[in-house]
Amino acid sequence: MLRVAAVAPDSIGSQIGLERGDELLSINGRELVDFLDWEFLAADEVFRLDTRTAAGAARSFEVERSDGVPLGVALEPPKIRRCNNRCDFCFVDGNPEGARKTLLIRDDDYRLSFRYGNFATLSNLKDKDVRRILEYRLSPLYVSVHATDPEIRRRLLRNGKAPEILPQLAMFAAGGIRFHTQIVIVPGVNDGAVLERSLSDLYAFGAPVLSVSVVPVALTAHSKLDLVRPPTREEALRALRTVRKWAARCRGERREGWVYGSDELYMLAGEPFPAAEEYDGFQQVENGVGAVRYLQKLIAADRRELGAGTLAGQRILVLTGTAMGPLMPEVLVSLQEATGARFECVALENGFFGASVTTAGLLAGADFQRALAARQEGYDLALLPAESVNDDGVFVDDLSFAALEAAARMPLRLSYHFTDALGAGAEAAA
Ligand code: SF4
Repeated sequence: MLRVAAVAPDSIGSQIGLERGDELLSINGRELVDFLDWEFLAADEVFRLDTRTAAGAARSFEVERSDGVPLGVALEPPKIRRCNNRCDFCFVDGNPEGARKTLLIRDDDYRLSFRYGNFATLSNLKDKDVRRILEYRLSPLYVSVHATDPEIRRRLLRNGKAPEILPQLAMFAAGGIRFHTQIVIVPGVNDGAVLERSLSDLYAFGAPVLSVSVVPVALTAHSKLDLVRPPTREEALRALRTVRKWAARCRGERREGWVYGSDELYMLAGEPFPAAEEYDGFQQVENGVGAVRYLQKLIAADRRELGAGTLAGQRILVLTGTAMGPLMPEVLVSLQEATGARFECVALENGFFGASVTTAGLLAGADFQRALAARQEGYDLALLPAESVNDDGVFVDDLSFAALEAAARMPLRLSYHFTDALGAGAEAAA
């Protein structure tokens, strides 16, 4: 069911009389199942829309809109498609008590893969899903491949019925769909010769496989550690060598790296990150691939816009995870030069998931609370990673940013890449 969550004032939606709570039933007689139908079928300039009000009254509208004018209708969030797999490394199993409810959902949703770049395994597709992907040309899709060998992939997914990924990709590729793919490395299962074969198979696809990221398995203190373990430094280094070998071949033949190790893989291997240019436009930065170089690039680009005048002489606390902690000085030195402020970075250990979880985006509200309580005085501002809260401003442990802010003795700001929080557009620090 597709229901209206909000209608923007003065929009086409409000002009025709749509209201919050209305059900959107069909367009030109075709049933609306979810947001994809809405986005694609309502893209026409003229269409007939059938709805039902919250009180149950059926209504019908002839909608006209010029190309590109938004309808101003926000939908209620979609019901997430659940996954059929039971991967040993599933992050859901790694959650402790008290985790935010949405972290407990095993989502495997091709629609979110297309819309938001969430990785999906495509192992739960029904025939009608396949038809929709092809009809709406949902491209690119973000696909968790892990291994192209069907038996090894089934073992990784703990799903004996998972369809073979290569024929699936081939079928979608024939329909014009492109893919960003990822391989999560589980030592002893899909590294070594299996990784070689997976990269070889994906490379053979040519243009439809846009990129591959190779990411070490991420585990928490609560994961199934009796079944899966993180790669050792030597294993990470071996995987990285394979990545580099294929990237060099691809750069020679296709003039781009195509396969990229995640930042975490470089850190585990104890190797320096490649230069920013080697990430070829940072296609998988959201997946932790080239995040550090991306940050440095943004700071360098926005240097002139950073609030130099207003920030000079200020003392700014930067809270991050232990992964970024050692890399932060490289980033902060350019910020310091650009703004005249003094930045002090504190790398927080994750008290919620355990020390093995090093990414800033998974720090809990309580982790920040502790860090701020220990540093009450002397700071003009504290910057927290914006990825650590969801769209409602809530941390993984259900604490809200608003509550943290209310109790803090210094102004707090969420920031993705510093320039968003410190740039000319950002509110000047108090
Ligand atoms: S595909 Fe695996 S890791 Fe992803 S949600 Fe399902 S069980 Fe968890």
